[in-house]
Amino acid sequence: MTLILTTRTDAFSRGLDYLYGLRSLALIPDLIDIVNDREGRTAICTWIGTHIDAVNAQLDANVQACHACFLPWEQPSLQVFAAPLAPAFRVDGVCNLKTNPITLLIDVGRVLPADWGRLVVHEYAHAQVGSPGHHPAFARSLTHLCLGLGLPPPPAADEDTLKIYPPYHLAADSLAFWRGAIPDWPDQVTVLGASLIVTR
Ligand SMILES: [Zn+2]
Repeated sequence: MTLILTTRTDAFSRGLDYLYGLRSLALIPDLIDIVNDREGRTAICTWIGTHIDAVNAQLDANVQACHACFLPWEQPSLQVFAAPLAPAFRVDGVCNLKTNPITLLIDVGRVLPADWGRLVVHEYAHAQVGSPGHHPAFARSLTHLCLGLGLPPPPAADEDTLKIYPPYHLAADSLAFWRGAIPDWPDQVTVLGASLIVTR
């Protein structure tokens, strides 16, 4: 959680710094395009500047649960950040294998808080395998995670099944969360528990 730093004290500037930090971690900087929306970004940056640490702590708790499913040397070195992803790219989460550590970006506005962990599990599996593909190695990693975290394993190992697994619910308005319109999100969020601790 240290790659995105800001020394500024007002919430808007902190939020804007955060978004520019995300751009530097994204495979394609324009994946984080809200910085170019001069009017729309104000409310979003201000909300980020105040709340993003609490959101990222929840995502990181899910990453820790994923780590617990693997032996230490099987755990990918990664960081996770909540990120408003540009709708044009039609992705809810991404795994950038080219940064060190690997970066997971999760659009917590597009996915209901109760399902954030499910998206983390999917992207974590990409990081664990070290590949963006939905192939047998990915299926093995994802199945292992699901079993360890108490989720049903993928019902099939074909690409169409794997690329949207585990399934999650989309929010009606992906920007509502980022504008602070879902203030009760902490009551909705769940962290996946490691029901089967493999490592220790
Ligand atoms: Zn995928």
